[in-house]
Amino acid sequence: MKALLNRVLNNDLCSGCGMCSSVADDDAIKIRLNADGYHRPVLNGQYRDKPLASEQTSAAFAKSCPALNLDIRPYKSANYHPIWGEILDTLKGYAADDEIRQAGSSGGVISALAQYCLEHRLVDGVIQIQASQTDPLENVATISRSRQNIIASSGSRYAPASPGEALKWVAMSTEKYLFIGKPCDVAAVRQMQQHDVRLKENIPYIVSFMCAGTPSLHGTEQVLDKLEVERSDVTAFRYRGDGWPGLTKATLRNGEARTMTYNDSWGKVLNRHLQTRCKICPDGIGEFADIVCADGWEGDEKGYPSFEEREGNSLILVRTEKGRALFRNAQAAGVVKAEAFDTASIFAIQPFQYYRRTTILPRLLAMKLLLLKTPTYKGFELGKGMREIGLYQSFKAFTGLLVRRKKIKKRTLETA
Ligand SMILES: Cc1cc2nc3c(=O)[nH]c(=O)nc-3n(C[C@H](O)[C@H](O)[C@H](O)COP(=O)(O)OP(=O)(O)OC[C@H]3O[C@@H](n4cnc5c(N)ncnc54)[C@H](O)[C@@H]3O)c2cc1C
Repeated sequence: MKALLNRVLNNDLCSGCGMCSSVADDDAIKIRLNADGYHRPVLNGQYRDKPLASEQTSAAFAKSCPALNLDIRPYKSANYHPIWGEILDTLKGYAADDEIRQAGSSGGVISALAQYCLEHRLVDGVIQIQASQTDPLENVATISRSRQNIIASSGSRYAPASPGEALKWVAMSTEKYLFIGKPCDVAAVRQMQQHDVRLKENIPYIVSFMCAGTPSLHGTEQVLDKLEVERSDVTAFRYRGDGWPGLTKATLRNGEARTMTYNDSWGKVLNRHLQTRCKICPDGIGEFADIVCADGWEGDEKGYPSFEEREGNSLILVRTEKGRALFRNAQAAGVVKAEAFDTASIFAIQPFQYYRRTTILPRLLAMKLLLLKTPTYKGFELGKGMREIGLYQSFKAFTGLLVRRKKIKKRTLETA
């Protein structure tokens, strides 16, 4: 497993999901923020000359780590959409509970489903991330068991977060959990479930959200600079939510709040700090989840997503029969409100996801030209996407990645 982790780090492919820390023996691997501001595995010095896991676990890890392998084939049907993946239902909707809708990133649908699962005892806890109690800029994995904690965890956090760290608790438990995470986090769980019966039994539901990529924590620090705020003065930090899209807000020790629009924080700062793995991700759309949510943006006069402040709305893709039953039951219970949405119109509200998905092949080619290894992607029908976007855009994506080559840093497993 050490060799696999070194391969991941050496080719700058880690997404920071945290799953490796849960499958390695005891505390052999921890997840820490590295000098570049990303969550990365580090080695416990006591394991320098010892294996990190059994051969069987290492083999399962090789097939499940999203930096090494993504295989969507077991979850596809004949109706598979080459851009948006397997979809049973496409909907637009929101949480019926006004507090959850307001607190949520988009329409609060993920938090509403989490609350529904807890209240109806479908699960004992919800694995998700939230801001650390000790450092409001850091994210920690947690298990929520109350409405209050679900609301406290709601909202997008555009910084490193590793919900896979919580899987070690699942392995020791007989409880059932809903797992919420980014597409790479849920891919790690879903793929590992194929090799670990307990993980499969104990995590009956997996929910994700569309993801354009994880920015370095240095991005958040840059936002603080623009707000003219010292990090040590910050007592709470929200990237968005509390409205839709809601403001980026730093609350200071003296009670003062400094804010910035979502368009300025994400669009002008944070999205310039994405890690390498995110730039070659074929699955920003959460294909391994039961249900995936995204912003159900309205179009502006030019047809681009409008970030004008509104009541929250989510785009909802139901991907599995289990997800469909969960969503329909939550809808029947009045917890979420939703109506059908045309799959062909997703393109207009998620243009970034469309562009990245259709340009993955040229980006992978550029990585190979840089003599970097890439993850193995199976079943995503990426050739169809490339044909759709055409030669000019493919060439632009290829050269774009080549030009940014100096940002790709080769690393090895550091010792804590
Ligand atoms: C890094 C990142 C990239 C995103 N990219 C896109 C995009 O390309 N298109 C788009 O439409 N929307 C994107 N979003 C926003 C996302 O779509 C919304 O969070 C989603 O619509 C869910 O809204 P909601 O109101 O249902 O979620 P909420 O009810 O607010 O619940 C959000 C859930 O996500 C969890 N969460 C928050 N941040 C993270 C994180 N960094 N890692 C793991 N779990 C987290 C929370 O713990 C919570 O459980 C992104 C969010 C993040 C954090």
